[in-house]
Amino acid sequence: MAEKAAAEGEPQGPLPVVDYLKIPENGDPYIEGYRCGHCQSTFLGERSICSNCGARDGLEATRLANEGTLYAYSIVCRSFPGIDVPYVSAIVDLEGGGTLKGNLINIDPDPEKIAFGMPVEVVFKDALGRKDRDGNSYLSYFFQPRG
Ligand SMILES: [Zn+2]
Repeated sequence: MAEKAAAEGEPQGPLPVVDYLKIPENGDPYIEGYRCGHCQSTFLGERSICSNCGARDGLEATRLANEGTLYAYSIVCRSFPGIDVPYVSAIVDLEGGGTLKGNLINIDPDPEKIAFGMPVEVVFKDALGRKDRDGNSYLSYFFQPRG
């Protein structure tokens, strides 16, 4: 990665927090999955063999939807030092396939306000101001209620 930098030590713009978060040079960031052409199963991250049907030749990179529904969540009240709590850790089923784990934001961390199956969307934001040693910021994804 260091060889790619135009000038050492100069920030290059946001880096994705995970390799399945793609940041095109032109256009909006998106989540990339791999979809099996045989059984249509969708997975996060690159893979060459379908773990559903075992096909070895049918997986293709695909841009996953930003809309989904809340499958499960947990309100996290204790975490590592420096991590603000409480926050809502969620698992979301994306429309068209793919299941993604992340934090649900812009909602009170209160079970009365959060419903299983509620419509949510993926939003892309700076990862809480964290930077690497060259000053690059990180881009992360979050879920928020769809309004
Ligand atoms: Zn398959």
